[in-house]
Amino acid sequence: MDHPLPISGQTPADHALNDPIARIAVHVGDITALPETFGVDAIANAANESLAGGGGVDRAIHDAAGRDELIAYNREQYPAGCPTGLVKHSPALGLEAQGIKHILHAVGPVWPEDDAQYAMPGAPIDDTAKLGYTYADTLLASCYTQLFNLAVKYDIQHLAIPAISTGVYRFPKPRAARIAFGHAHGHLLRNDLPQRITFVCFNEED
Ligand code: ADP
Repeated sequence: MDHPLPISGQTPADHALNDPIARIAVHVGDITALPETFGVDAIANAANESLAGGGGVDRAIHDAAGRDELIAYNREQYPAGCPTGLVKHSPALGLEAQGIKHILHAVGPVWPEDDAQYAMPGAPIDDTAKLGYTYADTLLASCYTQLFNLAVKYDIQHLAIPAISTGVYRFPKPRAARIAFGHAHGHLLRNDLPQRITFVCFNEED
């Protein structure tokens, strides 16, 4: 298999050990009930700007972590909530029994009803637009960049991430997958942390 050029200072053998592709996995299941053998120590949440709980994966995470406690923590730490494209950290509370220490609450963009609303000037205005041509692409990319930077900050070894924005927020799934995978790969090429990333898909289609 062809590998990209090694990072400077690494031998080819080091590079093979650190192959970003080998550090990325996909798991089909519920992010609040991952097998403990995975050793996941942090999960991302697809939150909304209020950080006060919502539906979908946000609801499942609040239920598992302890709804009232998690809402109270976020309200105290982040009274203004979290703007779209940014990520806030909380402890995992009730999920700590599963070895999870951190929840990273990422607020992904809502895919606009009218694509023209978010398109860059001159860009085609539908889902076929090149990646990065819509404002929503940039906001979703920002979530992933922030997630990975926080993984470094909090010394996270294994981060599990749901398919942010692809549920109620309607972000096209293949498009979101390319953004997620591209940013994960780019980050892992340059960083030791997180050591592993698992994309958790709720079903086969995801
Ligand atoms: P958003 O509002 O960001 O679109 P959703 O929670 O509606 O967030 O959907 C995001 C993704 O999370 C969807 O692919 C949905 O199928 C998936 N999902 C829902 N519940 C869970 C869960 N318990 N574990 C993992 N993924 C989930």
